[in-house]
Amino acid sequence: MKRALYFLSLSLFLMAFLSSFDPPAWSEVNKNKDNIPIVSIDVVLDIENRRIKGEASTELPMEKPVLIHIGGVELDHVTLAGRTINPSVEEDSFIVMASAGNRLLRIQFHRDFPPLSLMSSAETDSFIDTKGVVLLGGWCPTLEGLARYELKAAVPMDFMAISEADAVKMESREKTNIFIFEFPHPRADISLVAGPYQVSLESHKGIEIAAYFFPEDKELARKYIDKSKYYLDLYEGLLGPYPFKRFAIVENRVPTGYGLSTYTLLGQEVARLPFIVDTSLGHEILHSWFGNSVYMDPQEGNWSEGLTTYLADHLYKEQKGRGSGYRHRLLMDYQSYVHEDQTIPLAQFKFRIDRPSKAIGYGKGTMLFHMLKQEIGEDAFNKALKRFVLDYRFKMAGWSDLKAVFSDIGKKDLSVFFDQWLKRKDVPVLTISKGNITYPGNGIKSQKLTIQQGTESPYSLMVPLVLETTSGEVRLNVRVENKRESVDIEVEGQPISVTLDPDYDLMRKLDPSEFPPVLSCLLGSEHKFFVLPLRGSEIYGQFAVFLKSLGFEGKSIGSLTDSDLKKGSLLILGDPAPRLERLTGAMPDQDSGVIITVRENPINPAGVSALVKASSSRELELILKKLTHYGQYSTLSFRNGKLVEKYTAGTQNGIRLALQNEIVGIAASDLSPIDRIINNISEKQVIYIGEHHDKFSHHMAQLSFIQALDRQNRSIAIGMEMFQRPFQDVLDRYLDGQIDERTFLKESEYIKRWRYDYHLYRPIIEYCKDHGIPILALNLSEEISKKVARKGIESLTDEELEQVPKDIDWSNTVYKTRLRQIFEEHPENGIKDFDDFYQAQVLWDETMAQNVHDYLGNNPDRQMVVLVGTGHVAFGDGIPSRTYRRGKYNQVIIANTTGNNLEQDMADFFLFPPVVQPPFSAKLGVILNDEDNRVVLKKVMHGSPAQKSGLRSGDLLLSFDGEPVKDISGLKLALLFKKEGDTAKIKIKRIKRFAHDKVLEFTIGPFKHLKIAFHHSGKGSRK
Ligand SMILES: [Zn+2]
Repeated sequence: MKRALYFLSLSLFLMAFLSSFDPPAWSEVNKNKDNIPIVSIDVVLDIENRRIKGEASTELPMEKPVLIHIGGVELDHVTLAGRTINPSVEEDSFIVMASAGNRLLRIQFHRDFPPLSLMSSAETDSFIDTKGVVLLGGWCPTLEGLARYELKAAVPMDFMAISEADAVKMESREKTNIFIFEFPHPRADISLVAGPYQVSLESHKGIEIAAYFFPEDKELARKYIDKSKYYLDLYEGLLGPYPFKRFAIVENRVPTGYGLSTYTLLGQEVARLPFIVDTSLGHEILHSWFGNSVYMDPQEGNWSEGLTTYLADHLYKEQKGRGSGYRHRLLMDYQSYVHEDQTIPLAQFKFRIDRPSKAIGYGKGTMLFHMLKQEIGEDAFNKALKRFVLDYRFKMAGWSDLKAVFSDIGKKDLSVFFDQWLKRKDVPVLTISKGNITYPGNGIKSQKLTIQQGTESPYSLMVPLVLETTSGEVRLNVRVENKRESVDIEVEGQPISVTLDPDYDLMRKLDPSEFPPVLSCLLGSEHKFFVLPLRGSEIYGQFAVFLKSLGFEGKSIGSLTDSDLKKGSLLILGDPAPRLERLTGAMPDQDSGVIITVRENPINPAGVSALVKASSSRELELILKKLTHYGQYSTLSFRNGKLVEKYTAGTQNGIRLALQNEIVGIAASDLSPIDRIINNISEKQVIYIGEHHDKFSHHMAQLSFIQALDRQNRSIAIGMEMFQRPFQDVLDRYLDGQIDERTFLKESEYIKRWRYDYHLYRPIIEYCKDHGIPILALNLSEEISKKVARKGIESLTDEELEQVPKDIDWSNTVYKTRLRQIFEEHPENGIKDFDDFYQAQVLWDETMAQNVHDYLGNNPDRQMVVLVGTGHVAFGDGIPSRTYRRGKYNQVIIANTTGNNLEQDMADFFLFPPVVQPPFSAKLGVILNDEDNRVVLKKVMHGSPAQKSGLRSGDLLLSFDGEPVKDISGLKLALLFKKEGDTAKIKIKRIKRFAHDKVLEFTIGPFKHLKIAFHHSGKGSRK
């Protein structure tokens, strides 16, 4: 007989309901088969009084104690073999034992539920209400362990009831409907749901599909039934036959998403969401295999969510080619929500109670099965899944059973694999570094790479690597078992880059370059603060309460300290106070609705800084509940509660390392004379010409461009990194002829602040002076950049902040990665903290960009030639992108090269200026030290002019050509004006330990071109 006929059959068979215990005939057949006890439950739902009342009975085994869980109900009358007993209840359970022939235990019970409106959301797994009934637990006694349950339930006439069932019988009697549920399989618990449902039925390959929707949602049934067929087919193909004869989709008044044996319980609001059929429905159907027929062994933790998520949510993304993006998100969530000191190993995961437990049980669990598939191969993995389902159907299974089945089918001992992923709390931290290219013979070329593990003890991992070369891609998996593991990879072309785990196949900690600032970083932060705006704070009142419920701490702008910013994440509501705007940059414009944007927190790389701006409190109210679902986005914009725009900041995939061994070249015929390049760029509003500061040839190339543009009568201005903003006035006065060169250099503090030989720049400045070309001092004052490099941007006073641009963009992670490489390669720069270094660098770039923009704003008919270190313009990242952001200028980047590290995207034009003899620069050949307004010869170099004239280490410099010497820059300034062949008179004091100090005078020189370069000891020397 077809089940569809069974169900809702109009033939009424009268049943002696709630009379004497009378087990249905089918259970007699099953009795004692495999010694699993049978429990009969008869209940009546009294909806008006929110009461369930009934009787549970079972035949106890002979002389064996049985543990009964009473499930929170009131015991009205308990009899054993017809005699009343008074069991002593402890921890909601009692033990009974039968010895005589009649071993029938009967429990009469009831339970009253509070009104649904008075229940907290944590309690609503069981409730009785006139609009619907859900009883998932705490409504009837159950046996410890597995048992077969037979349920008979009487509900009001207008209600339909559902429970776990392969078949349902219904009979209407007076004002009640009586339901009998047939479920022949052993199970640990039992549920009962009822409500005024509209029922739709369909049969699909021997499975009855039923939809129980409330009347107002009945048109949803079609879509749910059709999609259910699709999922049943999908999983029967993957795992073998569906374990039951019936599957039902059941609506719930409260928002749930549960998969129970033979049915799924979906909240009404949930079921109405259009994407549920493409996501949760399949997940819950898959639980029919994992969790609801192969049961979880409570001793071993929950494997079912990880496996179900992997074969449902993950599989659906994978089918659309978005598997690696999905895994990337899991890793981001894990890193956002799971904090080292609060984490648990996967083996201890039981149920999802919050975001961190979800990231462990679902996220890390999914990754475990994904890695397992890589370990044993897809065929063995799929075969093992089928075997597992077959062997453990309607039995308890744990992680150890999974390990046994997969080891057996995979023909591999997976003990280490399961142990490390189940028992360890940490996750792998991987870095990759490059070694040399070697030529082992026969024309073979081999690239050495080293993978390092950052955890205390190493993992055993299959690490995917992709090597990009000029002759294609090389993909391989490297087994890494030690803290350091090196591989040599044979390559044909030139290696360009290597990427570690580009598809996120490994559970691991993400590198900062792989982790964009997204909302989940904010919500998952251990310490998170919000700041109300100075004006218009009333809009955010309700929102602030909501934030507090998420664990945010409210701070006033005054009480927000540097250490708050340093340890946590910050959310700014409304227009940021000026002090905070420097941390976050400007807010994108939006007149109505709500806009949220999350950015890096430049002060704490582990946290983020975010802004929320709303046009009204109503707009905020509409998005409160949704917000936590959008964790993967960096920018969100809502109107009338609807999402209108979403965006995730870009990151690279995998940990990428440039190998930079590429040989690049250019056809000699493609090399253009500088005039042709000038014709190409002469219309550009901003022309950047990058330099290596100490290369005179680079400066001569810069001058050639300036001269050529000037000859074309272009109205140009020169922007120079070498001069700092506060000294613009001195620069102007010199160019105007009001002061001489010596005064200019002294008052601009050029020597103290820039340190590079002024001769290198002199021709450019003299040309500009002679031709009336203005020069702009671009740089931030050294006091500020040094302070930031040492103590971070938060150390600046309000006065200092006035000199810093308000709008700062921290979002360029590629630039940040490149700077980190530079930082790590130059430990000698004396700055301890990369983040402080990074802040100083960005501030520097932003200031120069702002100065270029301000100048062009005031002088719109000028073009600007910007002279800076190549690092500030390479790839457009430092200054050019920041100038562009401000004024959308037409720009060009020209880089002087030294032949090293040439990459195509670095610049629009590369220059190869011929080496030229630098101008003569008089040098003493000593290392000097500034000591309390005195200059000491720390070291006199061998063979130097100083040594030849009789100067010795330790001498104290008193005067140079009769002028007193007070500091090194004074001496350098004096030397600057010495020409080749000149001499100088130097007076020194020689300290004698056992006699009087002596004052001596020497003639030094004549100065000549020197082959050796002597350096002065510059404190905190630059670059
Ligand atoms: Zn699940």
